[in-house]
Amino acid sequence: MTNEELWQATLAEIEVSLSRATFITWFKKTAIQSSNSGHVIISVPNGFAKEWLENKFNSHILKALRNIQPDIKSISCVIDATKETEKPIRREVMMDAIIAPPKQPARNQTYAEATPIDLENNLNPKYTFENFVVGSNNELARAACFAVSQNLGRIYNPLFLYGGVGLGKTHLAQSIGNELLKTDPGFRIKYITSERFTANLVDALQNQKINEFKAYYQKIDILIIDDIQFISGKEKTQEEFFHIFNFLYQLNKQIVLTSDRPPKEIQILEDRLRSRFEGGMIADVSKPDLETRIAILKKKAVAEHIPIDDNALLFIATNIKNNIRELEGALNRLAVLAQLGNINEITKTFAEAQLSELISSGKKKGVTYKHIFKAVALFYDTTLDELVAKNRKKEIIRPRQIAMYLMRSELDCSFPGIGEKMGGRDHTTAIHAYEKITKDLEKDQKLKEELTAIQEQIYKIV
Ligand code: ADP
Ligand code: MG
Repeated sequence: MTNEELWQATLAEIEVSLSRATFITWFKKTAIQSSNSGHVIISVPNGFAKEWLENKFNSHILKALRNIQPDIKSISCVIDATKETEKPIRREVMMDAIIAPPKQPARNQTYAEATPIDLENNLNPKYTFENFVVGSNNELARAACFAVSQNLGRIYNPLFLYGGVGLGKTHLAQSIGNELLKTDPGFRIKYITSERFTANLVDALQNQKINEFKAYYQKIDILIIDDIQFISGKEKTQEEFFHIFNFLYQLNKQIVLTSDRPPKEIQILEDRLRSRFEGGMIADVSKPDLETRIAILKKKAVAEHIPIDDNALLFIATNIKNNIRELEGALNRLAVLAQLGNINEITKTFAEAQLSELISSGKKKGVTYKHIFKAVALFYDTTLDELVAKNRKKEIIRPRQIAMYLMRSELDCSFPGIGEKMGGRDHTTAIHAYEKITKDLEKDQKLKEELTAIQEQIYKIV
């Protein structure tokens, strides 16, 4: 058997044990370079693939190789830069994956259940009161939201939620909508970010469609506008928003707003708008204590069938304190890594090893958008120039969206800032990219794995 035949047979075996998407992501452009006294050297296209094949897929590959040649004992990878330009192996697999993405869900899709987001109301069905862990940090806000869901437009209008990043504002605000749908699926609910709302409003104004715009909102029962602080400094938007606000308010429409700060601290906000925001109920969410952090992790681990022991949960909760999104991110990352490495239960040791960089370096320390570009370009075999280029090459669309998503999720960049760094694109392109990837992440296991890999890479470069 030649090395080529051995590798083709091995790939065929590996392919059935992984989701097709994972397989294509990690095994394209690989080959056996040499095989000598039980040690097989695999050539891979870049350092990224080397890292993953040697660490995460080591046992997968060895097992498959041994099924064909039982005397094989170990593997290692070498980077073969020429692979970048060479014709990839198993081209037919790659091509039809590009033309027609796999229809079946990934085989191992146990951790993330697909949760389609309703396109009209934009609600994520996962954001419910049931899935929300109550702690002293969010008790008041939760009670206010629940009360609103029971007395729409009548007690607290508007309801203004504020608090730091990743502390549950979006979750709570959307819970109101999902709660309403439980009692009556006919409720007309609109969840929208202030940026999207503004973009739509500006569009409507420019195209003389403001009446349609108003008519649309007139028909809804509850308007949830997320991250309202972003209208700061936008005079024209504020003026229009003020009118829409009054218009809805007078119709007894419930309005829910979230912000990273209280109304009085939103800079460059028209006074009349500020006093409107302060005119209802204001509730804050703050950072959760250790107990609450553990409870949140536990709930999520159970809901998504992530096998993890208590010490590992305690380890994560002790080390990630400031942001629940990061808390969940760490758990998700461990889940993906455990799945790829065939780990049955996530222990503290495993968590420590996998999260060490993230925890010791401090997540955002020193990371810039350049690190993101570099990692994304490396991952998708493209270049920095291509990423920011103004063409519409199909194969670059996704990497670009991911770069934009990461600038937002990892660095909290503003959308105009993202557009600018992406070679002078419009901020609506950045909003769209962020929304698209956020939505796709809900149901796309492959994308989750890719993002995990890219994030690892980003924090490694620093
Ligand atoms: P924010 O809008 O304040 O930035 P999010 O609402 O997006 O934060 O919350 C970030 C993540 O943390 C979400 O996935 C959310 O479901 C989760 N989360 C936040 N608070 C809680 C909580 N008390 N219980 C369960 N999950 C929570
Ligand atoms: Mg939010």
